[in-house]
Amino acid sequence: MPNDYYKTLGVDKSASQDEIKKAFRKEAHKYHPDKPNGDEEKFKEANAAYQVLGDADKRAKYDQYGSAAFEGGAGGGGGFGQGFGGFDFSGAEGFGDIFGDIFGGGRNQQRERKGNDIQIDLDLTFSEAVFGVEKELDLTKVSNCERCGGTGGEPGEAMNTCGGCHGEGVQMKAHRTVLGVMQSKVTCSECEGLGEKPKVECKDCSGSGLDKGRHHMEVKIPAGVDNGATLRLRGEGEAMKGGASGDLYVRLHVKRDKRFEREGATIHSTVKIGFTQAAVGDTIDVDTVDGSVELKIPHGTQSHTQFRLRGKGVPTRRGRGDHLVLIEVVVPKKLTHKQVKMLKELDLTEK
Ligand SMILES: [Zn+2]
Ligand SMILES: [Zn+2]
Repeated sequence: MPNDYYKTLGVDKSASQDEIKKAFRKEAHKYHPDKPNGDEEKFKEANAAYQVLGDADKRAKYDQYGSAAFEGGAGGGGGFGQGFGGFDFSGAEGFGDIFGDIFGGGRNQQRERKGNDIQIDLDLTFSEAVFGVEKELDLTKVSNCERCGGTGGEPGEAMNTCGGCHGEGVQMKAHRTVLGVMQSKVTCSECEGLGEKPKVECKDCSGSGLDKGRHHMEVKIPAGVDNGATLRLRGEGEAMKGGASGDLYVRLHVKRDKRFEREGATIHSTVKIGFTQAAVGDTIDVDTVDGSVELKIPHGTQSHTQFRLRGKGVPTRRGRGDHLVLIEVVVPKKLTHKQVKMLKELDLTEK
């Protein structure tokens, strides 16, 4: 067998699931890349083996078909082989508990430090959603202090190298895990990762570098957005000292327009015409998002005929959609004697 998972974990083919789990912990402990004598290659092999043997179903499949069933594709390996840190634990049961221990908050520490995201709701008229619009917003949020630009230092005064991290911006922190004590880098708590501290604190923010207040902004809503869509405005969320600003999410609520219904890029409307107009034809005015346009009704138009107004729909990247007009022919409920007589005469001539 090209890849003997049992051998990798140093267990017998008859080993219990519990023995396999224990063997994996031992291997992972020995080879973890964060350990002084770690071996990333061996660690990955142990992972790959455990992902299969640690799962009773996959193990049975492996016993039957061998490792080929799990290599290079659909059957198996999850996110492995993308290098350390690229793991995807989602598929493997019983895996998360071990790795949750090993990595602890470690993965979060590697993540970019970012301020809070903000989500707001915004109402748009039907037409604003179709054509796009610029909206003015007032947001209360934490942003960088204007006086010091977020450094926390009084402008014009020098900055000192941070004593907590010697200017590195990070500190080593020991974590106790099932595999023993692990070291990881965390953002320096004294300088928030900036590596320096102000000699004199900024008068406006007292050194925090942040300021909470109302901010006026303009948001450009692109043409063609639909109800329920969310726009993401990068960096328009809350600021964080020593980190990037979060994002602003704008959720759009499009108000109804009783004249129009929207279906993606297509706009629908219904127009009622009289039965004489339908019979002999006419030119009528139809409301569109571009205003009133003329629509020629040919003679003999039946009720529920649909007419297409090309390019009067919602703008998209490939051009504008169409507006479909549904014609409803209204038959009068009351007729005068004269009208009845004339209609009967018409009926006779048709036969
Ligand atoms: Zn300041
Ligand atoms: Zn520091």
